[in-house]
Amino acid sequence: MHNHVKKILITQDQIIEKTKEIAQQINEDFKGERITLVALLSGSVPFLAELMKHIKLDCEIDFMDVSSYRGTKSTGEVRILKDLTRPIDSCNVIIVEDIVDTGKTLNVVKGILENRDPKALKIVTLLDKPEGREVDCYADYVGFSIPNEFVIGFGLDYDELYRNLPYVGVLREECYM
Ligand code: 5GP
Repeated sequence: MHNHVKKILITQDQIIEKTKEIAQQINEDFKGERITLVALLSGSVPFLAELMKHIKLDCEIDFMDVSSYRGTKSTGEVRILKDLTRPIDSCNVIIVEDIVDTGKTLNVVKGILENRDPKALKIVTLLDKPEGREVDCYADYVGFSIPNEFVIGFGLDYDELYRNLPYVGVLREECYM
């Protein structure tokens, strides 16, 4: 375990197992259809990589980059840093997110993508922090509900570090700058 990690919340094995289950559900829900996975950079990349391995449908991937966080607090302000490369009208779109906290980021992204007339628009998130919710927002597929703690690993960073950890853990307080 990394010495900046106070405790491991979710192991790599647990993440892989749960991600397989979610992929199976998506395979059933969109049977016979083509889907587009829209991953929000950069935190959702490891989750996307795990998820897409188990998707049996025709599947495109695209990326969007929005910024909402500085340090450990949501600013509530969402800026688009990189948009999708292709149109999504008439597509079955699934937004792939690492974590839903206040819900502000996903609400904004969902609104933007809804305006582009997809055939379906769903949300899959690896982690959900329901206690952090400030706006009405829910994901259609959720890996794990976790307590209201700042977590790192499996894509999640603190000031761009720790994304490469293969598990989800809680950062030691003394590591916050
Ligand atoms: P929201 O807009 O729902 O508050 O925040 C969503 C984004 O904030 C996530 O995509 C993620 O980048 C970041 N975030 C929220 N909670 C955490 C957390 O506990 N740890 C880390 N590293 N990022 C978080």
